[in-house]
Amino acid sequence: MTYTTPEQLDNAYTTLHKTFKTGKTKSLAWRKWQLKQVFWMVADNEEAIAKALNTDLHRHEFEAYYVDIEGVKKDILDTLTHVEEWAADDIPDAGFLFGTLGSARIRKEPLGVALILGTWNFPIIVTLCPLVAAISAGCCAMIKPAETSAACQDLMAALIPKYLDQEAIRVVTGGAKEATMILERRFDHIFYTGSVRVARIVAAAAAKHLTPTVLELGGQAPCIVTPSADIDTAAKRIVFSKYLNNGQICLAANHVFVDPSIHDKFVERAIYWLGQYLKDGGAEDAVRIINEQNYDRLVGLLEKTDGKIVYGGKTDREDKYIQQTLITNVTMQDPLLSSELFGPLLPIMALPYREACTITQRGDHPLGVYIFSTSQHEIEYIIKNTLSGGVTINDIMLHAAVPNLPFGGVGNSGMGAYHGKYGFDSFTHLRSIVTIPPYFEYLLSFRYPPYKSSNISK
Ligand code: NAD
Repeated sequence: MTYTTPEQLDNAYTTLHKTFKTGKTKSLAWRKWQLKQVFWMVADNEEAIAKALNTDLHRHEFEAYYVDIEGVKKDILDTLTHVEEWAADDIPDAGFLFGTLGSARIRKEPLGVALILGTWNFPIIVTLCPLVAAISAGCCAMIKPAETSAACQDLMAALIPKYLDQEAIRVVTGGAKEATMILERRFDHIFYTGSVRVARIVAAAAAKHLTPTVLELGGQAPCIVTPSADIDTAAKRIVFSKYLNNGQICLAANHVFVDPSIHDKFVERAIYWLGQYLKDGGAEDAVRIINEQNYDRLVGLLEKTDGKIVYGGKTDREDKYIQQTLITNVTMQDPLLSSELFGPLLPIMALPYREACTITQRGDHPLGVYIFSTSQHEIEYIIKNTLSGGVTINDIMLHAAVPNLPFGGVGNSGMGAYHGKYGFDSFTHLRSIVTIPPYFEYLLSFRYPPYKSSNISK
């Protein structure tokens, strides 16, 4: 696909700004119509979406249907059900004077023309779900899918003009060069999903125009397995996050801290479960590493580790295949823990949960903390002594799939949140409105100069 030219970008940008000024996208009828169109765009093209995901990532159709396709459709249906209620004025508790007599209220104004920059690991979801939020809030949107997942980018660039209102929603394509050109322009909101490195570039560009941003990033999400944990379930669920999308998930387990008393049993069960997942075609069906650059990065880390590979380790550059790999005897100084792994390698460290919390607090706040424990005391200790975007207890990543929970990071794992109403809110300006009737003059006249000390009520 040829990327968007500066002339095409100018045309799209001008059109979106013109459209927003007309107020067309503020109407609830327009929002609902466009939400339904996104739904039909996905529903009509499920096969094509699954095929594009397979081309880019070697994703099995089961994963494509239950994560990507169902994920977007569910998000749209939920938004359609609630959008009127979210968009209605909120009535604050402003007291009798300003609340009842002044009818104070909060109007939900769309921020304007939003830029949505997607990434490649779930290229459909991380591009279309922010779009759903933008439409629900009444914004115009320019979308730039990740160029790395080229088949999904091309599909979205082909489908969106067919289904969605071209005056208000435009797709542009390109890599870093085109993204730089886009970011020179002034947007009213930027919603970015991707790496911390690029997030800094995006935030710096946004700062020039004082544009608010939501940054959905990643980090080194730890699993903390305490002595009271159900060891088998913990191992089964943790290693699943290294199978799904081959661990290329912002929320996947980055590493495991497991209590020394149960370390060996945990490793044994983790080996068992990976063996189960990879047999009977499981290895063939696993998602591949997105490109050679990431493949080389991960294999390089595996070559440099001082840890012991206890399972996996098979690699094939031509196929971009890296087997799910468990590494024990790892320390925090190991190259494997130098940054977010974002792949199928899982370092395991024997460490009591209190020390695991201290180490976690020393680093950047992760997107998720996963606690495996049956003791409420241990669970509370870990929650109190760490900070992360979210927490799932006795499972992995699921806090991001629960309706009405905000999804987002804190510190280096991101800023702002979305999903459901939180997505609507992130594209919305809360505009305070109050009416001051003329007869309030009697109550307010004390404020005018010349001031009198006798007017101070003590
Ligand atoms: P990336 O940050 O390199 O790319 C994402 C987007 O940024 C693409 O659209 C790309 O074109 C654009 N981009 C790349 N270089 C740019 C530049 N110089 N200027 C402006 N834009 C540029 O993506 P990545 O690093 O491969 O993504 C992986 C990261 O994304 C991981 O850290 C992962 O944790 C994170 N992630 C987060 C979420 C979430 O929802 N929090 C979801 C998926 C991935």
